[in-house]
Amino acid sequence: MCAQLALARFSQQLTVMSEFLPYGRQQIDEDDIAAVVTALRQPLITQGPLVEQFEHAIAEYIGAEHVSVCNNGTAALWLAYAGLGIGPGDEIITSPITFAATAAAARWLGADVVFADVDPRTGNLDATTIERHISPRTRAIVAVHLAGLPADLRRLRAIADDHDLLLIEDAAHALGATAWGESIGGGACDASTFSFHPVKHLTTGEGGAVVVRDAEVKRRVDMLRHHGVERDPSRFVGPNPGPWYYEVQALGFNCRLTDVQCALGLSQLAKQPGWLQRRRDIAARYRAQLASHMSYALPQAERAHRVSAYHLFPVLIDFDALSLSRADVMATLRARGIGTQVHYIPLTEHPYYDCGPTPPGARRYYEQTLSLPMFPGMTDRDVDYVVGTLASTLHSAKAA
Ligand SMILES: *Cc1c(COP(=O)(O)O)cnc(C)c1O
Repeated sequence: MCAQLALARFSQQLTVMSEFLPYGRQQIDEDDIAAVVTALRQPLITQGPLVEQFEHAIAEYIGAEHVSVCNNGTAALWLAYAGLGIGPGDEIITSPITFAATAAAARWLGADVVFADVDPRTGNLDATTIERHISPRTRAIVAVHLAGLPADLRRLRAIADDHDLLLIEDAAHALGATAWGESIGGGACDASTFSFHPVKHLTTGEGGAVVVRDAEVKRRVDMLRHHGVERDPSRFVGPNPGPWYYEVQALGFNCRLTDVQCALGLSQLAKQPGWLQRRRDIAARYRAQLASHMSYALPQAERAHRVSAYHLFPVLIDFDALSLSRADVMATLRARGIGTQVHYIPLTEHPYYDCGPTPPGARRYYEQTLSLPMFPGMTDRDVDYVVGTLASTLHSAKAA
């Protein structure tokens, strides 16, 4: 009763929000627009100087050496896998709690995807479930840093080293996250991929980046990004008949990012440190408010030596134990101006991946997860409104 009175008082303090709060969204400022307009007036609007500038800026931000930008995060995964030589008959082991692209990029290379299980409190790969899936065909472990929380890269690296496997990270959620004091993408993995879709930390409209440890792999990634074309005469297989000549040495694709997009990316990247801090402040406020107003919704667990970049803010709600329908809760929140989403339907549940039942940790995570609004433009009042509205929605649904 006492808790409900406190809750009622807390809800009263909340004014109705005028603007809809999506689960995530981009921030485009006037200086971003000006940067794009300037880029449009240059002689080269694609493959000009801004591509390398953006690559160098990303490299500096995450403390990496070899960065290749590309047209989206899915292409980044494809380039990373292909650049590391993953191909037909190979297997990768990854998490079922991820976006379709993590697995699809490997499938497009003719590789098979094997799903291990996740820690049901974080949604990240549970390292203890990897080894049972390793076969003679396994080439790589692909970690996904769900919501921005780094996976257990120490243990995954040890397993990869023991079995002579590559360790790759789909870091689409994790720009600016750290693990054991090192930035995600900073070299703990053989390759790391990022996405610059509008819902991610920074945007180029569509866009992505591949970070690799090895200069030769970077060279291969850059080549595959542009139709597998080699332009360096010292690397030609055949004789060089003249200045027009180039060689297609591999089956690539057009995965290029334009200068116009790189201009936007450079402008956005300059603001990323401030945005990241704001995301962390929002997360801290969510955690404090949830702890004091609600026992039903647990934030994604934190893990030692890892600092999340908070692309998302997932909470875990035991809808079954509360006899609640997640669909109803989402609809009520939506009617009150709050967008939420489920990240993710396990890939094992999709008809395309005909691969047996969803492992228990992933099943449990999927049944309980709900991503609350998280983007740097949110105010403290927005956070309080979300927590208050979620609390009253769960309470009233339970009372009904
Ligand atoms: C966004 C995302 C991708 C793909 O990025 P796109 O830029 O949309 O192609 C891949 N993996 C994860 C986990 C993502 O969230």
